Amino acid sequence: MSKVLVIGCGGVASVAIHKCCQASEVFTELCIASRTKSKCDALAAKLAPTTKTKLTTAQVDADDVDQLIALIKGYGPDLVMNIALPYQDLTIMDACLACGVNYMDTANYEPENTDDPAWRAVYEKRCKEEGFSAYFDYSWQWAYKKKFEDAGLTALLGCGFDPGVTQAYCAYAAKHEFDTIDTIDILDCNGGDHGYAFATNFNPEINLREVSAPGSYMQNGRWVEVPAMSIKREYDFDQVGRKDMYLLHHEEIESLGKNFPGVKRIRFFMTFGQSYLDHMRCLEDVGMLSTTPIEYNGQQIVPIQFLKALLPDPASLGPRTKGKTNIGCIFTGTKDGQPKTWYIYNVCDHEACYREVGSQAISYTTGVPAMCGALMLLTGKWNQPGVYTVEEFDPDPFLDALDQYGLPRSVNAAPALVD
Ligand code: NDP
Repeated sequence: MSKVLVIGCGGVASVAIHKCCQASEVFTELCIASRTKSKCDALAAKLAPTTKTKLTTAQVDADDVDQLIALIKGYGPDLVMNIALPYQDLTIMDACLACGVNYMDTANYEPENTDDPAWRAVYEKRCKEEGFSAYFDYSWQWAYKKKFEDAGLTALLGCGFDPGVTQAYCAYAAKHEFDTIDTIDILDCNGGDHGYAFATNFNPEINLREVSAPGSYMQNGRWVEVPAMSIKREYDFDQVGRKDMYLLHHEEIESLGKNFPGVKRIRFFMTFGQSYLDHMRCLEDVGMLSTTPIEYNGQQIVPIQFLKALLPDPASLGPRTKGKTNIGCIFTGTKDGQPKTWYIYNVCDHEACYREVGSQAISYTTGVPAMCGALMLLTGKWNQPGVYTVEEFDPDPFLDALDQYGLPRSVNAAPALVD
């Protein structure tokens, strides 16, 4: 029996809410709150006839802590699931602390305005000290650790697929498969085809910021940064086939480096087709990926936000996308004194996701882990006061829940390695 407040009603939230409604014995009451209430009302109306979960909706601007506090106090949830945008992580954490409620999200904090001088000063110091220049990092949310500990509340960060399930795979490998882990390669392959020349699979602004940034990986506890898309490999993915993939900076490398300090190298690769890369380079070259506002016809516009308005809504890709995703981790290390390699991954079919919940697999592979993370918090399996990433909790019940709710794991005990 629990009451959950979900903030956000986009592609990922919609899947998470569908899945919560499939487990109405745990998610007895759920309020969907977002900036645009009509989207929440439409989803609640669609799901109400199919579930015992009691659904309500609300309007909220999650950039405004006072509005959030009023909403949380009025509804009285056991957990707030932040599935809006990373820009709202800190305001929602503040509101949860003020109201004494547990918190979770699917992506770590980054600011909407990267020209804000106060943020920029902290960012530039971090770039110099840490050696990576992505706009997002965990420091802002890890700074809340003591506050959550003192309040006896849990904050679970980054519980999607990557970050999220990939860290549970690492925790599982460390717990069951290896005595020592030397290297971790996280491979994110999207073999889906939506038929558009260019579209992003989740929020375009967040997605394009991520992939146009310099790549980086961790080697012997230190960041190594390389120009965007400068490290390319080819890999033959189970049920997808051969794909080009590129090394990216990705947020879970930072927390894995902290929580598995003995691992010598941690890398992240994502597949991209040539058409996507050509479009992205062109958009970048003409300034369309900029987050700095420009004056146009007497109005301030942010180029990347204008671009978002032009691109297909990721939620609209569902009915058009065919093919599969394959996301997982390859480990090297030792077990019982012998060298060992091991690969754990999930394969997810875009069309099957659409049939089940009306979304493509990228939203599905993020929304299902968000629901399973909520399940861990609501059933007392992952409750521990403080601020945590997924690899800090017992992976077993979480991976069992993923198997049950649509993202079953596959294992290869003799995988091809990435050089
Ligand atoms: P969408 O853009 O589809 O949805 C975002 C939702 O948040 C929309 O409903 C939007 O409202 C709402 N929102 C935005 N700003 C506010 C605000 N100020 N107040 C209230 N609501 C707001 O994004 P996605 O569903 O694609 O992504 C959701 C999250 O999941 C993102 O943080 C993304 O980074 C993360 N993600 C994580 C992945 C992982 O594997 N860990 C993978 C993919 C995504 P409106 O409808 O009015 O715009």
